[in-house]
Amino acid sequence: MTYDPGNIFAKIIRGEIPPKKIYEDDKVLAFHDISPKKKVHALIIPKGPYVDATVFGESAKEDEIVALVRAVPKVAEALGIKESGYRLITNIGAHGHQEVPHLHFHMLGGEPVGKMVE
Ligand code: AMP
Repeated sequence: MTYDPGNIFAKIIRGEIPPKKIYEDDKVLAFHDISPKKKVHALIIPKGPYVDATVFGESAKEDEIVALVRAVPKVAEALGIKESGYRLITNIGAHGHQEVPHLHFHMLGGEPVGKMVE
């Protein structure tokens, strides 16, 4: 799938829509989900134009991959859920029920999140 620069997260990265920011560096942005599914629901995204984790894994630069993974504990720490635990998931494509076509990891926690898939 070709990257659509009109997607909502691209607009957030460009500063056209202000997020409830949690963490930012030159390659990564994390912000609160607008419609939280658990007490804590954050989204962690690369700033580069990657549709999903498949494309990211195939074509992102190593420093972008490192930055995204390294951001995970920083975001968990900022949210106060590093010790209690959380779920990190990413939806990909039609069967994964991905709605926004820009790679994002959902970080869910602040309470028990239940079984992985019902
Ligand atoms: P997915 O179904 O994995 O693509 O998830 C997309 C997520 O983006 C959903 O959890 C939405 O609630 C969230 N979302 C959509 N628009 C915004 C926005 N403007 N700010 C924060 N989160 C958003």
